[in-house]
Amino acid sequence: MQKSIYEYVGNMHIHSVYSDGELTHAEIAEAAIKAGLDFVIVTDHNVLVEGMEGYYGDRPDRRVLLLVSEEIHDPRRTQRGNHMLVYGAEGEVAAYAPNPQRIIDEAKERGGFCFLAHPIERAAPPFDDYAYSWQNWDIENYTGLELWNYMSEFKSYLTGKLAAVRAAFNPDKYISGPYPEALELWDNLLISGKRTRIIGGADAHGTTYSMGPFKRVVFPYDFLFQCVNTHIVSDEPMTGDFQHDKMLVLRAIREGASYVGYSKPASARGFRFSAQGHQAAAIMGGRIRLGHGVTLQFVTPQVADMRLVKDGKVLAQEVEGTHRTYIASQTGAYRVEVYINYKGKPRGWIFSNPIFVVD
Ligand SMILES: [Zn+2]
Ligand SMILES: [Zn+2]
Repeated sequence: MQKSIYEYVGNMHIHSVYSDGELTHAEIAEAAIKAGLDFVIVTDHNVLVEGMEGYYGDRPDRRVLLLVSEEIHDPRRTQRGNHMLVYGAEGEVAAYAPNPQRIIDEAKERGGFCFLAHPIERAAPPFDDYAYSWQNWDIENYTGLELWNYMSEFKSYLTGKLAAVRAAFNPDKYISGPYPEALELWDNLLISGKRTRIIGGADAHGTTYSMGPFKRVVFPYDFLFQCVNTHIVSDEPMTGDFQHDKMLVLRAIREGASYVGYSKPASARGFRFSAQGHQAAAIMGGRIRLGHGVTLQFVTPQVADMRLVKDGKVLAQEVEGTHRTYIASQTGAYRVEVYINYKGKPRGWIFSNPIFVVD
């Protein structure tokens, strides 16, 4: 009999009033409950806000687990970029901002782990907004990449004032998926043998853009929480016990027992990707011995275009399908990406963490 799998959806790139966001932690929790999220991780710039973590909400079916981590950058750098998301570390590590490797090492020392935020960005010159891409690649031991950042992608459509107004009033028409360069970057890291995991997030600020006669909160938090999220899977449930559930969420993210889902076209809940070998099994983020072959299986919650990718190449594709199996006969990192038609064109919908088939 198959073991039960539990799935929880959360957003893990969010700013509050403690940096440049519009909402307090309690208000962010409220927006998350409204959006139907199970957890949120608030990541203010260069500050680890203490005393805010916990369950928010008054009923078991209307509550959210709120964790606090941070997004670190060096404000003194002249070359902009190098934003690092540090999760689960005990204590403040923002003082190490000038040295990204030091942040990674100190975070690890304190039980935490790091993801590179929006590693590839595009500038929005009409709004004097720069590309905050990752710059220093001579680093090791970080856990992974923020493959898809909703607001970062949105920014790339702000090519002029008029384009910006159009995009702001109908973002669904524009948002399409992770940048091809981000997928290529990830594939190259996997090809080099790194076990790079991925997450997706909103980068929610509740920013008010001022555009001529239009002035409004373009992206309320509860809207963003229904867009690009990280879905974790676990063989044990969240219980409502804060410490237990905090560890469950952080472990799944660190191990990559998760996928990135964009829920605007259709709910991304219910996607599964697993591997079955001789006397062994694995899920996303996990390792499995190749032996005489491993059966990979993936299932989507709705008819879509599914691709199994290894070394940057599509090994198997199912157009308008809901499930597929594939016998892996080589070692390597296997990942799944799913595209779905929405508002007249295919959109990135689901991006899984890899399953690592090893000798
Ligand atoms: Zn950032
Ligand atoms: Zn941010």
